[in-house]
Amino acid sequence: MEILRTVAELRRWSRALHCEGKTVALVPTMGALHAGHASLIRAARARASHVVVSIFVNPTQFGPNEDFNRYPRAFEADCALAGAEGAAVIFAPPVEEMYPAGAATFVDLYSLTDRLDGASRPGHFRGVATIVAKLLIAAEPDQAIFGQKDAAQVAVIRRVVADLCLPTEIVVCPIVRDSDGLALSSRNVFLSPIERTQALALSRTVRLVEALSASGERSRSILVSAARKVMSAEPDLRVDYVALVDWATLQPVDVAVPGSLFALAAKVGPTRLIDNTILA
Ligand code: AMP
Repeated sequence: MEILRTVAELRRWSRALHCEGKTVALVPTMGALHAGHASLIRAARARASHVVVSIFVNPTQFGPNEDFNRYPRAFEADCALAGAEGAAVIFAPPVEEMYPAGAATFVDLYSLTDRLDGASRPGHFRGVATIVAKLLIAAEPDQAIFGQKDAAQVAVIRRVVADLCLPTEIVVCPIVRDSDGLALSSRNVFLSPIERTQALALSRTVRLVEALSASGERSRSILVSAARKVMSAEPDLRVDYVALVDWATLQPVDVAVPGSLFALAAKVGPTRLIDNTILA
């Protein structure tokens, strides 16, 4: 498996394949790959003849007091996992490649980015929108694969792709969970055994909301207060948000419809975790 470090190499690789009539799928990641990322790589393989996994811990999506420096990095293991899942290349640029000296252009949305995670992480989605746009412009993929795990991010990326007329199809894959229900996340390595038990309140809440919804409950106030009750039973969990929103606009909806996004975020110790479900 080849490792590419520059935008020029990535673009040359993708264009050469397209010239041969092949297809390219991009799986953007920040590394520390786990089974959730593996599922995205498999979905990419099922759709395109060649898969590029980007590994880039994007500094612009971290706030000044967030965990950019301690974000887990595991490049060797990541290459092994991506290769085993059938990726053709890894794109792992240095920061200066994606943000050259004097860089002054960002992708800023006029809506969406101040909602959910954007409300508690100012600037986060601006960084996400910018790096994803750059990756899509550089790799020119037929498809880009994202996880529903970061559901608000999906809404932002769909908006950016539509607004910038980017030709890539956005594919969204289901959340992969550990056997105890916890949604896989690169940040789970930060959880102590006790924190891990506390973190299970997130997936427990998602299951409860899914059950209430399946039994016909559609009201936001009832779903949100039931969710908050489960989460507050775990005293060391600090809830950031619990929300029922339209998945495209991230605006609250009073009554759930099929496709509504129920999303939550909470801190366990210093670690911020998210989870969600798309209601049937
Ligand atoms: P990250 O490396 O955390 O930036 O994530 C890269 C991609 O993997 C994003 O599209 C995430 O939504 C996706 N992802 C992360 N965790 C999971 C998971 N547990 N299940 C499915 N996709 C995931």
